[in-house]
Amino acid sequence: MHVMDVYKRLPRINCGQCGKKTCMAFASEFIKGDLKLSDCTPLNTEEYEENRKRLEQILEKTGKAEETGLLIYEDLCNGCGNCVIACPVSAMNDEGAAGGKGPTEDDVVLKVVDGRVVLVDLEKCRRAEGDTRCRVCVQVCGKDAIKLV
Ligand code: SF4
Ligand code: SF4
Ligand code: SF4
Repeated sequence: MHVMDVYKRLPRINCGQCGKKTCMAFASEFIKGDLKLSDCTPLNTEEYEENRKRLEQILEKTGKAEETGLLIYEDLCNGCGNCVIACPVSAMNDEGAAGGKGPTEDDVVLKVVDGRVVLVDLEKCRRAEGDTRCRVCVQVCGKDAIKLV
């Protein structure tokens, strides 16, 4: 499940009722399995009923989110974008990542949205690749906001 599949079906009003500052942060936590659809109050109103049903269908298909092994401590992150720029997946897939505040597309693992880094697509992350296990994002983050477990 890609974070944008979730995000585009959320109310996208950044009301904060789920405990996250933005709907993008909610989407990122949701794909990790740390939040549930019921945590978004507006989504459970009649106005967003169609969106909720679609998200439930997506969830049924993909099943329970796996243990991610990449944790983001949102409160520590200052949105500097160093991890996004340094991540080899960003560098390979998106020229915008080299320019400063992050990529312009979503073919990346990490992305800065509204001043915080969010997990976009964990499947692309190379943290578990044998001897070359990547830890670059952790190493470049001066705020200890990313942990690989
Ligand atoms: S409660 Fe829902 S609409 Fe409000 S910020 Fe969270 S995800 Fe967005
Ligand atoms: S996780 Fe660290 S390196 Fe990445 S944007 Fe946040 S503070 Fe910067
Ligand atoms: S571990 Fe490596 S590939 Fe994964 S998000 Fe961090 S820098 Fe990118």
